[in-house]
Parts: sequence; C-alpha cells; structure tokens
Amino acid sequence: MDGENHYLKCIGCGCEYEPDEVLYLCPTCGDLLAVEYREFPKPSNLKEAWRRRDRTVWRYRELLPIRKDTPIITLGEGGTTLNRCPRLGRLVGLDRLYVKNEGENPTGSFKDRGMTVGVTRAIELGMERVACASTGNTSASLAAYSSRAGLECLVLIPSGKIAFGKLVQAVIHGARVIQVRGNFDEALRVVRELCNRHPIYLLNSVNPYRLEGQKTIAYEVVEQLGGLVPDRVIVPVGNAGNISAIWKGFRELYEIGLTGELPQMVGIQAEGASPIASSLKRGMETVKFVDEPETVATAIRIGSPVNWKKAVRAVKESRGLMETVSDDEILEAQRLLAQLEGLFVEPASAASVAGLRKLTASGVIDGDELVVCIATGHGLKDPNIVLERFPTPVEVDPDVDSVERILGIKTVRAAR
Ligand SMILES: *Cc1c(COP(=O)(O)O)cnc(C)c1O
Ligand SMILES: [Zn+2]
Repeated sequence: MDGENHYLKCIGCGCEYEPDEVLYLCPTCGDLLAVEYREFPKPSNLKEAWRRRDRTVWRYRELLPIRKDTPIITLGEGGTTLNRCPRLGRLVGLDRLYVKNEGENPTGSFKDRGMTVGVTRAIELGMERVACASTGNTSASLAAYSSRAGLECLVLIPSGKIAFGKLVQAVIHGARVIQVRGNFDEALRVVRELCNRHPIYLLNSVNPYRLEGQKTIAYEVVEQLGGLVPDRVIVPVGNAGNISAIWKGFRELYEIGLTGELPQMVGIQAEGASPIASSLKRGMETVKFVDEPETVATAIRIGSPVNWKKAVRAVKESRGLMETVSDDEILEAQRLLAQLEGLFVEPASAASVAGLRKLTASGVIDGDELVVCIATGHGLKDPNIVLERFPTPVEVDPDVDSVERILGIKTVRAAR
C-alpha cells in the first residue's frame, strides 16, 4: 500500500503538486497550499467504518492525508465534549448553544489534532527534526508529539509573552526552547527561514497537513449533533489556520454527501490583534497587518496571520463574518463560562463566547439559531491571568465559629 490519495493544490494559481517532497508554499507563485483528495470514500463506507471506531482524530483516517501503512503518532487526541450550555444560552438568548471543549485534548488545546497528523507526516517524510514558532500551545503540542515520535523538537517563542503553563509543557517534554526578542510574527519569520535552510520540518499552521487534523472538529460537531449542521460556528482567530480548517471539514462533509447544509463561519479577534476582522469590517479586499499586536489572550496575539487568505475565503464562502472583542469582554466571557457552565478555558478560547455575546446583543445572531462556540484551549494553561483578577481567599483560625463569622451565619441550636 503506497499510493497517495492526496495532492497539494495552490490556493492562488491552482497548480497541483505530488506530495512526495517537503513543500509549504506554492513553488510557482508563493501562495498557500491546501491538501486535496483524488477521491472520497462513499458515505455508506465511511459511516460503516465510523461505527467500529472510537471518537478520535483517526476515526476519520480515510479523510486524512496519511498512507494506510504509516505508523500513527497519537496520544488519543480528538473526541472532545460538545457541551450544551443552557445557562449561558439563557443569558445570550439562545436555546441551542453548544461549546466544544478543545481543552480536553492531551496537551490541552486543539493543536493536538493538527500535530498528530503533522508529526505522523514528518515520520512519513523521514524527517528527524521538527520546529515551530509559537504563542504557546503549538510548542506544547509539538513538544509532546515529537517526544512520542522520538524526534528532536525546536521551538521559538516570543520572549516573556507566553502563558506559564504552556512554557512548562515545552520544557518537560524536552524541546529545545529558544526565546526570541520580538513578537510571534517575528519568531515565525525566523523559524520559516531556518526550516528552508535545513532539513527541519516546520509545523506551524502554514503547513497544510496540520489543518487536515484540525478539520476533524467539524466532523465531530456534526456527528455529535446527530447529523445536524450548526447555523453558526464561532472560532477565535490568531494565525487563522483553525477557522480555515474547520470550514474545510464542513465543506468536505457536504461534498461527500454526508450533510446537506453548511454553517456560517464567524471569526473572533481581540481588538489589539485584529488584522483580519478590522480589514473585513472596513470592506477591504486584502488584510492590513498589525505591527505590534497586543491582547491578554496571548494565543491570538498575532499581527500577520499566515492563513489570512484561507480565513477570508472561509468567511466569504460561508457568508459568515469576523468581529472584534475587547480584553475586558474576553475576560468576562471566561468568567461566565467558568461560573455558569463549569468550563474553564483560556482567554483566547473565551473570545468566541465574547464574540457570541456581542453578536446576539446586536441582533446579528438570532435567538433560534443553533450555535457552536469553539473553546480552543484549557484554562489551566494561563493561571496567572485568573489570580491577577480575583481576590486571594480569606484566612481563618481552625474553628467553626471563625468560619461562621466569615459566612455571616449565626449558630442556631434547634430544640429537639
Ligand atoms: C492557536 C490557538 C488559537 C488560534 O488558532 P489559529 O489557528 O492560529 O487561528 C486560538 N486559541 C488557542 C487556545 C490557541 O492555542
Ligand atoms: Zn501558486
């Protein structure tokens, strides 16, 4: 079994390439590449295969660009819960609101879906070293998957700008971590150049194999909704790979004939790091990058999103939109998710819910829509942001009277 069922296609000039060499951009015009399939299996065959398999990314292996005989590098990623959220739903006026909790993935973010495919592809290509630039979660995930595969891992991070939990993950998994004096965009520029000069496999989301893993979010959502397609899917946007990947997933289900509808894709960016959302809202045809992106949501603190073109297409093709939210709105959404629904997500993830609140309040999203928000990463990634905002718990002497005093409950001795 060796034939490849996929090829790479340029999203700009349409040139097609065999997947037998390492390619990140179109050699003809320099635009982004996408994985395309020569042929999709029949819907009945897919459904039959899925019946026998667990809910992980590899449940969908016929729709992934990996040869049948390749040993898969996996940590059991995917299969995250799609939580119905009635309490949050009431607050925003939606009866059918769901939050997909990607923090349940092995390293705590959706990046694992991309890395299981990307690192398996690195093995297929015979690469021995992998690298990425990262705002945190990409490095945490790549560090784990490369350890699992026995590959050397290099990560470049912006100095002092990644959440504590994420840095800790890269360190414990033994990645070579280098801090770059600059922001994410600059770190990415450096690592791309490095990977062009040396046989090191680049696993940022410019690599189209990663997006193939991430598109499984769409497959899962539809299966978890019993075959229904949501009216809207709301996604936090940084480098803009994930929203593009999820849209690709929905489009494929439609092409295969497993669904009869498509959702509207809604991308949310933080106000201080909103190149795509701001440009689209102004009706511009291209995207004006932001030189010094700033937001508490470090995972989406990106000024020059590599996948902007794919994301703009996803939004336009789906007749969706992009919106911006402030840091205060993000942190309030994080609190609401935690306190109304028991879901602790990191600030970037809460951007989707902050966007939802804004769009329901303004009437753009209607009360009868079925909405899915993607919560991209776990709250424990960034504990400091929480401690900075909430008071330290009070301290008392170890006796019940002290606790009662604090609680303002009087001791009542009921007559028996
Ligand atoms: C990577 C990441 C994002 C942004 O995803 P892009 O594909 O870069 O748009 C959002 N939230 C979290 C938690 C992330 O780790
Ligand atoms: Zn091209």
